[in-house]
Amino acid sequence: MCGIMGIINKKGMAIKKVIEGLERLEYRGYDSCGIAYLTNNKIETVKTKGRVKDLKELIDTDIKSDIAIGHTRWATHGVASTINAHPHTVGDITLVHNGIIENYLELKEILISKGYQFKSTTDTEIACALIDFYYQENKDIKKAIISFMDKVKGSYAIVLLCKDIKDKIFVIKKDSPLVIGVNTDTVFVASDIPTILSECNDYYLLNDLEWASISSSEITFYSNKGEEQVKERQTFKDGNFTYSKDKYDHFMLKEIMEQQDTLSNLINYYIEDNKYLDLIDISKYKRIDIVACGSAYHAGLVGKYLFEEEANIETQVYLASEYRYKKNFLDENSLVIFISQSGETADTLACLKKIKETKAKSLGIINVENSSISIAVDEVIYTKSGSEIAVATTKAYTSQIAVLALLTLSSLAKHNKSYDIDKIINELKNIKDDVKKVLDDKDKYKSIAKKIIASKKIFFLGRSIDYAIMREGDLKLKEITYLSSECYAAGELKHGPISLIDKDTLVIAGNTNKILYEKTESNLSEVVARGANIILVTNKGKANSNTIVIPERSSFISPILEVIPLQLISYYTGVFLERDIDKPRNLAKSVTVE
Ligand code: GLU
Repeated sequence: MCGIMGIINKKGMAIKKVIEGLERLEYRGYDSCGIAYLTNNKIETVKTKGRVKDLKELIDTDIKSDIAIGHTRWATHGVASTINAHPHTVGDITLVHNGIIENYLELKEILISKGYQFKSTTDTEIACALIDFYYQENKDIKKAIISFMDKVKGSYAIVLLCKDIKDKIFVIKKDSPLVIGVNTDTVFVASDIPTILSECNDYYLLNDLEWASISSSEITFYSNKGEEQVKERQTFKDGNFTYSKDKYDHFMLKEIMEQQDTLSNLINYYIEDNKYLDLIDISKYKRIDIVACGSAYHAGLVGKYLFEEEANIETQVYLASEYRYKKNFLDENSLVIFISQSGETADTLACLKKIKETKAKSLGIINVENSSISIAVDEVIYTKSGSEIAVATTKAYTSQIAVLALLTLSSLAKHNKSYDIDKIINELKNIKDDVKKVLDDKDKYKSIAKKIIASKKIFFLGRSIDYAIMREGDLKLKEITYLSSECYAAGELKHGPISLIDKDTLVIAGNTNKILYEKTESNLSEVVARGANIILVTNKGKANSNTIVIPERSSFISPILEVIPLQLISYYTGVFLERDIDKPRNLAKSVTVE
C-alpha cells in the first residue's frame, strides 16, 4: 500500500525531491509519513502522524542533502502514530518498508533475547533490527541483507541507509512494488513509475527476491544468494500520466468527467483496423475464471454477464482473497483473467503466482504499464485510462468493463456469424456522446445526494447485470461517504432483508434489463408498499426527479452508462458531507498487502 520514495544525487536537492515524490505517492497511503536524509555526514529523521503537508511544516526543504528516503504509511501493524511512522532506525540501519513481515513476532523474541529494544509496534522496526543484527556480526551490509532475506517471511519493498556507508542506498524487494529510475546524475527509487516519470527517462525493475546497491553513478543488482544480476535498462513509453486536478475540486470528479475520453479512446483504438479481432480468443477455453478485488471484481461480474449471455461462454468470477486459498481445477484449457487497476494488488498477484504452477493461460486487464501483474501474465490488455489518483476508482473501472466488452465482441465476430456485430460497433463508436449525456445531469445527482443524506437506510437493488452495477454503486457510496448501505439481488430481498425496509429507507435500483424488467418492477413495488422511496436508474420511460433515464443501449455499453450516475451521486454525497473525497479514511489506492 504505502508509498516509498528515495533519491541519491550530488546536487543537494534530495529532501525537496523526496517530499515532492511523497506528495505524488500520497494516494497510496496517508495515515502518517516521514523522511530520513543525510546531512553533515549524519542521518536525520523527521516523521509525523498525518499528511505530507504536515511533514512539510516540520522540515526545512532547503537543507542541502544528497541522499534521502521517504514514506507515506498505510498501517498494517500498529496504529497510525508518529512513533510507528517510517523511517525506522535501529542501530546502524535506517529504513522504510512497504509490506508485511509475517514472522515478526518470532523474530522480535529472538531479537529481544539478543538485547534489542523496540519503540514502535510495527513489524517494520523488527525488520530493521534484524538487518542491524546481521550487520553488527561483521559490518558487512551485503551479508546482512542476504541473511535478512533468508530469515524473513512476508512481503517487502525496503529502502535502507547504513550509518557507515555515506554514498549509497540499498533496496530489497519481495512481493511489493519498487522501481529504480535513472537520469544522468540521479537515481530515484519509488513504489510506482508515475511518481518518477517527470524526473527521469530510464528505469530498472527489480524482480522478487532481488536487491540492489545504489550510488549516484552506479547500480549493482544481486540475487538473494548474493550473485550479481545483469539488468536491462528500460525507457518509459507511456507519457499519459498527470498529477493535476485541472479545473476540478477533486481528482475523483476530474476522473469521472474524463470517462468520455478514456472510454472512446480505448474503444476506438480497438475498433480502428479491427484490432479487437487480435484480442485473445476467449471461446477457445473450456473454463474461464475472472479473479479480482473491489471494483475490479464488480467489473468481472459484468464480464461474466457479457461472456455468458452474449457469447455463450460459461465464466466464474472470484474474489482474489478467496481464490488464492481455494483448490483450483485448472488445466491447459483454462483461462484465468486478472483484473487490477494498479497491477500490484497483492491478493490478485498472489493468485497469479499460484496459477503459474498450472497449465492455465493468464490474461491481465491492467491500467498501470509495467506493473507486477502486467509483467507476469502470459498476455496483457491495458485499459489505457491514464493516471487515476482518486482512491475510489471510476474511469479505470469503466475501462475494465470496456475491455471485457471488446473481448466478448471479438469472440462473437470470430464464432457467431449471425450476430449483428456492426450494430454493436456503431453503438461503441458513439460512446462519447452517450457518456456525455449521462454526465450532464449534475443537478439531479446533487438533489439525489441530498435525499441520501436525509435517509436513515440505503439499499441498492438490481437483478443480473443491474445487480453487478448496483454493487459497484454501493461500494462507491461506502468508500466516499462512510454511510452504511446494503446491496441485494432484487429477488433476494424477500428472503430476509425486506424486514429492514420502512419509510426511512431509500432504495437505489437499477432496471435496464429487458428480460427481467417486470420482475425488478415487482420487487420495487414490494419495497414501495413498505414505505421506501425509490431512486431508479433505467433506460425506459420518462425521467423525473427520482428517475434517471440512460440511453437504451446493448449490454456492451449499458452497464457503463448505468454506473456513471452512481459515481456522481456518491461524489456529491461525499462533497455535501465534507468527506476527504480523494483520500477516504482507511483506504489506499494500490492494495499491496494481503
Ligand atoms: N507493515 C508496515 C507498517 O505497518 C508497512 C505498512 C505499509 O506498507 O505502509 O508499518
